[in-house]
Amino acid sequence: MLLLTPGPTPVPEAVRLAMGEPTIHHRTPEFEEIFEETRELLKKIFGMDEVLMLASSGTGAMEASILNLCEKKALVVNAGKFGERFGKICDAYNIAYKELKYNWDTPCSVEDVKKALNDDKDIDTICIQVCESAGGLRHPVEEIAKVAKEINKDIKIIADGITAVGVEKINTTNIDALISGSQKAFMLPPGLSMIGLSRDALAKIEKSSTGYYFNLAIELKNQKKNTTAWTAPTTLIIGLKAVLKMIEKDGIEKLYADTALRAKSSREALKALGLKIFPKTPANSMSAVLDDDAAKIRKILKDKYGVNIAGGQEHVKTTLFRINHMGIFEGYETPWTLNAIELALDELGRRKYDGTANRVFCEQQYKAKQ
Ligand SMILES: *Cc1c(COP(=O)(O)O)cnc(C)c1O
Repeated sequence: MLLLTPGPTPVPEAVRLAMGEPTIHHRTPEFEEIFEETRELLKKIFGMDEVLMLASSGTGAMEASILNLCEKKALVVNAGKFGERFGKICDAYNIAYKELKYNWDTPCSVEDVKKALNDDKDIDTICIQVCESAGGLRHPVEEIAKVAKEINKDIKIIADGITAVGVEKINTTNIDALISGSQKAFMLPPGLSMIGLSRDALAKIEKSSTGYYFNLAIELKNQKKNTTAWTAPTTLIIGLKAVLKMIEKDGIEKLYADTALRAKSSREALKALGLKIFPKTPANSMSAVLDDDAAKIRKILKDKYGVNIAGGQEHVKTTLFRINHMGIFEGYETPWTLNAIELALDELGRRKYDGTANRVFCEQQYKAKQ
């Protein structure tokens, strides 16, 4: 079965092999060397002063970032399940927050953020997704972060980049915490999260931090010495090093370019089939299509063509499908999937099959390579 869900993503063979080696102890020079190398490679990809690795899924890093950076009140952007989650974390810790709520296809407006910050001087943190995976929506995070810092230079910007880091180059100039997770663009099994931190965030954490397991001051002190506060997820970090080495071989810029082209080619092919791209500002991590037959299309893909794509959640559970573009792909995987969608549309009596999806996808690919 081809796994084309926007997380988890398939783990490349070389990475699985690296993780198949016998377990090593985490307090050894051998592991510290792996940890150090991984840290340095991560800092390059994040483009930030510091990157911490945590043994948790992505949500743990979201929780850690809020706990360690927000002092008074957060501004939470909610345009989907993951934005909503930031609010739920605040609720769990009785942290005050104001929510900016949008339809799942609509990006956060810079003006709304400006207004919220000018209206409420208690807001000291903004929590937002770079890509809101519920609808494959790209928020204008860099612009929001820039404007927010113009209003209040001490405000902290927490950007959930779980489906953006490793997908595209993110301008981190005004971002204080950039969150990622292992099972999306990093092509690893779930269980490891990462947080890139700015100099301002590091200063705040060193001055005051809270929590125990997710106390970032304790992690920072340890990880600077190439070890972790608690038992490290050694296998995943060994896998991460293998992934980062793999990416480094052809260069991260090539991965960004390939992903962007795969996303664009897919969108063009889907549109040529008469399908509707859901978000107003699509991210490159996935293609999300709104369609009444989404559930039926997914079922045909799974039963007949051996492809697993994701559905939607909540109110778009049966009317959305999402195709992953994150990671390193074999050339045939995406066109195979798009072709299967075209065949499914024929089976549903929607449109006669004529090879349009594959043709348009390939045209886009070849055009870019000329
Ligand atoms: C997957 C994802 C998460 C994290 O979910 P976990 O299940 O905790 O790994 C958070 N934010 C976004 C945008 C995601 O896509």
